[in-house]
Amino acid sequence: MKTVIVWFRKDLRLHDNEALYKAIQSADQIIPFYCFEESEYGKTHFGFNKTGSFRAQFNIESVSQLRENLLAIGSELCIRNGKTADELLKLVKETNAEKIYSSKDIHSEEIAIQKEVEERLAIPIDYSFGACLYHVNDLPHPYQDTAEVFTSFRKGLEKKARVRELYPSPSKLPKVKIDIDWGSLPSIEDLGLKRIPIDSRAAIKAKGGENEALKRLDHYFFQSLALQEYKNRRNGLLGEDYSSKFSLWLWNGCISPRMIYWKVKEFEKEVKKNQSTYWLIFELIWRDYFKYISLKHGNKIFQLEGIGKSERNWEIDKERFEKWANGETGIPFIDANMRELNSTGFMSNRGRQNVASFLSKEVQLDWRMGAEYFESMLIDYDVASNYGNWMYVSGVGNDPRDRYFNIISQAKRYDANGEFVKHWLPELAEMDASNVHHPWTANQVLFSNDISYPKPMVEPDYWKKYY
Ligand SMILES: Cc1cc2nc3c(=O)[nH]c(=O)nc-3n(C[C@H](O)[C@H](O)[C@H](O)COP(=O)(O)OP(=O)(O)OC[C@H]3O[C@@H](n4cnc5c(N)ncnc54)[C@H](O)[C@@H]3O)c2cc1C
Repeated sequence: MKTVIVWFRKDLRLHDNEALYKAIQSADQIIPFYCFEESEYGKTHFGFNKTGSFRAQFNIESVSQLRENLLAIGSELCIRNGKTADELLKLVKETNAEKIYSSKDIHSEEIAIQKEVEERLAIPIDYSFGACLYHVNDLPHPYQDTAEVFTSFRKGLEKKARVRELYPSPSKLPKVKIDIDWGSLPSIEDLGLKRIPIDSRAAIKAKGGENEALKRLDHYFFQSLALQEYKNRRNGLLGEDYSSKFSLWLWNGCISPRMIYWKVKEFEKEVKKNQSTYWLIFELIWRDYFKYISLKHGNKIFQLEGIGKSERNWEIDKERFEKWANGETGIPFIDANMRELNSTGFMSNRGRQNVASFLSKEVQLDWRMGAEYFESMLIDYDVASNYGNWMYVSGVGNDPRDRYFNIISQAKRYDANGEFVKHWLPELAEMDASNVHHPWTANQVLFSNDISYPKPMVEPDYWKKYY
C-alpha cells in the first residue's frame, strides 16, 4: 500500500488543489497534514507580532473548515502546532509515508521551512504552484525577466498566456487505516495571542474557510450582482460590497485565483460582460505581478532601498510612528483608516494607499515600519502584495511615476460628506462636512477635553488649497 502525505500550507482548500489532486492519482492512502508553524508566530524586526490576532483567528477557522471538508469526504486532517520539520519527520516515521505532496512558497522564510523539511526527510517532496492566476511555467517570459512596469507585464500575459483549467474537487478520499493521533485545533492562546473580537462597525463580517470563500464569491457575483459595478465602486470605503473582499481568503488559499477567474467567465456568459468584469481580473493580475516581482528580486523587497534606485532620508521615530499606528495623527482620513485596521484587520485599497503614502512621504519614516505593522495587523497579509505595494507607494518599487497622495484632496474626493471618517471617529460626529477632513480650520472648539481629537502632526502647504 502506497502512503503519501499532503502537506497543506497556503492552499487550505479542496478545489483547484494540484498537490491534493496529484496525491490522489498516485497513492492508496493519503494523510492530509497542516502545521501551525511556530516561526510564523514570532516577532517582526520592529517587534510586532508576525501574525496578529485577527489573522491567527481567521486561519484557525480556515484550518477547522478544511478538516470538516476532509471529514465529509471520508478522510481527516492531522493538525500540529510547532516546528513543521519536526512534526513531519515524526509523521513520516509513524505512517511509513513514501512521498509528500505540497505547494511551493516563494519567500525566504517560507523557503527556509521547505529547505529544512527537505534536508531532514529522506523521502521526496513533489511541489505544485497554485498561488497565482497565471502559472509560472505559462508566463511568456522567464520570471527573472518580469517587466518592471506593470502594464508591460499585463499586456504580455493578456496576449500570450492563458489561465489553466481548475483541478477538480475530490468527492471521496480513501479512509486512513493507520491509527494516528489526528491532533486538535489550537486556540488563539495556544499560539501566544489574545483573542480580539472584530468591531461591529467592520465593513464585512468574514470567517475563514473554503466554504465561506465560495459563499462570498457566489454572493458578490450571482446574488448581489455587485461584480457588474465593481469598477465604479472599488474605491469605496464603507460596506461589504464596494469591493470583492476576496483578499481575505486568497492569502491562505481558501480560494484559488483561478476559481475566481473562471467564475468571472461564467458571469460574463450568463449575466453580463463589461468593464467591471474585466477589471476584477485586471486586479488579480496586479496580485500576480507582485508575486513575480518578489520571485525575481528575492529579499530586496524587504530592504530600505527596495528594488528602486532612489536615495531618500528615512527616519525611525517611535513616537511619530505610534501616532500613525494608533490613528492619532490628527488627520481624520488617516486616523479613520488606521482605526479601521486596528479594530477589524481590514482596510480598503484607497485607505492603504493613503496611509502608506502619508507615513513614507509626509512623515518620512522607514516605510518598512508601516509594512511590518500591516504584516501584523492585516487578515489578508500577503508577503508579495504587501511589500510590493508598500515599495510602490513609498517610491522604491515599481511605480514609474513615483506618485504622491495629497491626503486632503483624496479625503474630499473619496469621502465627500465625511461619512467614513465619522464612522470611525465618533468624536467628529458633529463636525460639518466642509471641515471634517481638516477640523483644525473649523471655528468649533475641538481641542478641548470635551472633544478630544489631536491637532495635526503635520500640515504641508500643498494641502491648503483643498481646504
Ligand atoms: C500599502 C498596501 C499594502 C497592501 N497589502 C496587501 C496585502 O498584504 N495583501 C493583499 O492581498 N493585498 C494588499 N494590498 C492590495 C489591496 O489593497 C488589497 O488586495 C485589496 O484592498 C483587498 O480588498 P478586496 O479583496 O476587496 O479587493 P478588490 O478590489 O475586490 O480586488 C480583487 C483582488 O485583486 C487583488 N488586488 C487588488 N488590488 C491589488 C493591489 N494593489 N495589489 C495586489 N493585488 C491587488 C487582490 O487579490 C484582491 O482581493 C495592499 C495595498 C497597499 C496600497
